[in-house]
Amino acid sequence: MHAKIAVLPGDGIGPEVTTEAVALLQVVAEVYGHQFEFEQGLIGGSAIDDAGTPLPDATLALAKASQGVLLGAVGGPKWDKEPASRRPETGLLGLRKGLEVFANLRPITVFPELVDASPLKREVVDGVDMLIVRELTGGLYFGQPRGRSAGKGGIEVVDTLQYSEHEIRRILQLGFEIASQRSGNLTSVDKANVLESSRVWRELAEAMAVDYPGVTLSHQLVDSAAMQIVQNPKRFDVVVTENLFGDILSDEAAVITGSIGLLPSASLGAGGPGIYEPIHGSAPDIAGKGVANPLATMLSCAMLLRHSLSLEVEAQVIEEAVKRVLAEGARTADLAGQSIGSTGNSPIGTQEMAKRVREAV
Ligand code: ATP
Ligand code: MG
Repeated sequence: MHAKIAVLPGDGIGPEVTTEAVALLQVVAEVYGHQFEFEQGLIGGSAIDDAGTPLPDATLALAKASQGVLLGAVGGPKWDKEPASRRPETGLLGLRKGLEVFANLRPITVFPELVDASPLKREVVDGVDMLIVRELTGGLYFGQPRGRSAGKGGIEVVDTLQYSEHEIRRILQLGFEIASQRSGNLTSVDKANVLESSRVWRELAEAMAVDYPGVTLSHQLVDSAAMQIVQNPKRFDVVVTENLFGDILSDEAAVITGSIGLLPSASLGAGGPGIYEPIHGSAPDIAGKGVANPLATMLSCAMLLRHSLSLEVEAQVIEEAVKRVLAEGARTADLAGQSIGSTGNSPIGTQEMAKRVREAV
């Protein structure tokens, strides 16, 4: 296969981890006889410095002309005083908007060797392997009207939770598709006891379930889901939910793994290129030191292969390689000391960890 991949390293540790991720994809290409063409673009704070804007037109054009976008991270203290239109994060929002991505996928995996990194008891988290599918473009974050005005009792303020049937259907459909490729268990999370939007969401999910006989659909209220994520996270396989609930639940689920340096994400649109990035930020405190954990970005490459290039075997090979190096005891500094099975040796750096994964592939 020939594929064009846009690489947007961004700020902080972004360049360090994306360099290793590209090297990994090159090895995958070599082993499986693919041709991946990489082209780099500016985004975030480094784009402000070099081009005067967090999302240069050339970057968006490059992303649109690619089959998948590999992104590092954006932001850092250097740009904290920039006006809103020139914040590094504005570049990322612009990219998501420009590529019309509407779904954010966050797999939450607890690796057996790292169960003790979790703030939860080992028997609660051992074996967790869930995936949250969050709607990204609608709901309370974007509905109209919104804003503040002066009222009798002081400020009056309005936010609107708004969805169209089309928006709900497309995210539910993605949830069903992904559930049917995994173990077939789909939990739709809502607040149907109080929200009309959630009642419509439930009706549409029920109607769609008829088309997916292999998927078992269940509904759960968001407050109950939030409790279950810490009490019994193993009960979840694929979770599909709207924007606000997904924002909160995906961060809650991420912390139960105890290792944010390990978690990848994908943002997908209808047919266009997806954006693949680690869930962690630019980590300015460790940037340039060669100690960042590259695994979240390397696992994001697996998601790129799976969701944008339909290379499932290659995606699994990366995931298995990561499992293997962890099982062999390789630990970057963020993982060292908090995990059983580590060799007790001093932690390895970004490049050494990445090299071991490439060798395992
Ligand atoms: P953002 O605001 O961009 O979401 P943040 O400031 O909330 O990001 P991070 O930049 O992810 O958070 O950093 C949080 C902490 O986790 C920092 O101490 C950072 O060093 C650490 N960290 C983040 N990513 C990694 C990584 N890949 N390897 C090691 N440590 C990391
Ligand atoms: Mg930050």
